[in-house]
Amino acid sequence: MTGDPNCIFCKILRGEIPSVKIHEDEETLAFMDVMPQSPGHCLVIPKNHAANIFEVSTDDAAILIRATHRLAQAVNTALKPDGVGLYQFNGSAAGQTVFHIHFHVIPRYKDVELVMHARDMVDKSVLQPFAEKIKAALR
Ligand code: 5GP
Ligand code: ZN
Repeated sequence: MTGDPNCIFCKILRGEIPSVKIHEDEETLAFMDVMPQSPGHCLVIPKNHAANIFEVSTDDAAILIRATHRLAQAVNTALKPDGVGLYQFNGSAAGQTVFHIHFHVIPRYKDVELVMHARDMVDKSVLQPFAEKIKAALR
């Protein structure tokens, strides 16, 4: 088995729990956040398990930021929001709830507050059209 047996993102990588994927390559996965704080909220992770910025290798950190850069551009092209927030939390005191390093890519709209972090789960049918649009912009 690859990854951490109890990590929810490693379980997504192993296909043990479902996810709405945007893009997968040898080293990273981009997928929709199941509890979006804004429509189109997505996540990008390195395939190698590391809990946070303090654990991740320099190489995997570089791989992660390259994938985040690409995903942020695709979200911007696909959804044309007023802005795009990139968020990354380390430790529960900083707001981290899943301990496999990730960047949030969150479309932002003028004068629209974010929905509370990790609160309301939405259906796959809501997430899929966003994933398709972002996927198309990655090509
Ligand atoms: P953190 O609080 O660690 O920065 O963010 C974890 C994110 O993962 C949250 O935004 C939460 O909604 C999301 N998340 C938690 N469990 C799952 C899951 O099973 N699938 C997906 N796609 N996202 C998840
Ligand atoms: Zn993991």
